Amino acid sequence: MMYMQMIETPFVGRFTRPWLLAAVLALTLGGCTNLRGGKLWAPEAFGLVRVSENLYVEAGADAPTQASLQDAMRRAEGAMQAAFGEVLSRPVVHACLSEECLYRFGGQGTFAKVYGNRILLSKRGMNWHFIAHEWSHAELSKRLGLSAWRGMPQWFDEGVAVVVSEAPEHSEQHWQYLDARGIAKPGRDELLTYKTLAQWLAAGDRFQDGKNAERRARGEPEIYALYAAAGHEVRPWFAQLGTAGLLQLVAQLNAGEDFSAVYAKR
Ligand SMILES: [Zn+2]
Repeated sequence: MMYMQMIETPFVGRFTRPWLLAAVLALTLGGCTNLRGGKLWAPEAFGLVRVSENLYVEAGADAPTQASLQDAMRRAEGAMQAAFGEVLSRPVVHACLSEECLYRFGGQGTFAKVYGNRILLSKRGMNWHFIAHEWSHAELSKRLGLSAWRGMPQWFDEGVAVVVSEAPEHSEQHWQYLDARGIAKPGRDELLTYKTLAQWLAAGDRFQDGKNAERRARGEPEIYALYAAAGHEVRPWFAQLGTAGLLQLVAQLNAGEDFSAVYAKR
């Protein structure tokens, strides 16, 4: 009810109830940090045009941009198939070219974001890696029941997304770069305490993963300590257990087993 009131205040009279319900669902499932992502349920009302059933881009995007996005979606789907075997989720991708568009949907300062099954991409995140990253989140939320999904720690959800997407920004190479330079990153024990989205976001502040716009402006290398650490944790787990292990974990969580017990059992 609280969510309904929060949502209705700015948009009352402009949208129908199904849209409002979709926005509430987005908040519940995506755990997003603001309300603007709800606009993804009416993308054409906010400056995006439909390219295909699963792809919207900011108005004015040229044909090569649209083609490269479609190609990136195919590559992301290939990576998803490799990791999950079968891909059950069919997220809708929304690509912003401008900062204004990104801000309109609540994605400022990010490569990409997911609200339920709605992916928002920035211009910098417009490649298969970041589509696959967000798609991995959408796939896990599709495969897990609500209670199992809530029991999955944020660090694991992010770690799987990092491994599936192979984004160079979050790679093992980046982890080693941080390690070699003594740049602060969470140790394993600490990482494993980041169970909720709030804890994850607080850690992001602590390790300054969100300060990359400033680093870029100063000509300094970007730092993704948190994501690199999550990938560093999950990469050997996935290398050892593979798709079968991932799907087994999903099944065990859906059966009500405790995440820590299941994860530790490998
Ligand atoms: Zn993520």
